[in-house]
Amino acid sequence: MLCVEIIKLLAGSTLEMKKPHPCGARTMRLMRVGSICRVVCTGCGRDMNIDRIKLEKAIKSVTPPANQIDEK
Ligand SMILES: [Zn+2]
Repeated sequence: MLCVEIIKLLAGSTLEMKKPHPCGARTMRLMRVGSICRVVCTGCGRDMNIDRIKLEKAIKSVTPPANQIDEK
C-alpha cells in the first residue's frame, strides 16, 4: 500500500510546475504556506492564491531556498 507523499513546502522555495504559466514560465516562488498557499510567477510576477491540495498536485519538483530565510 502506498503512502501519500507529503511535500514539504517552505516559504521561499522555488516550485517547478507540471504545467507552465500562460506567460511561459514554469517556476513559481512560494511566498506563504497555509491551507491556501501564495505563489508568485517567476516569469511575469503575478501572484496567486492556490489551495494547498491543488498546488501540491500541480508541483513537479520543489527547490528549497538556497539560503535560509529568517522567519518573520
Ligand atoms: Zn507568469
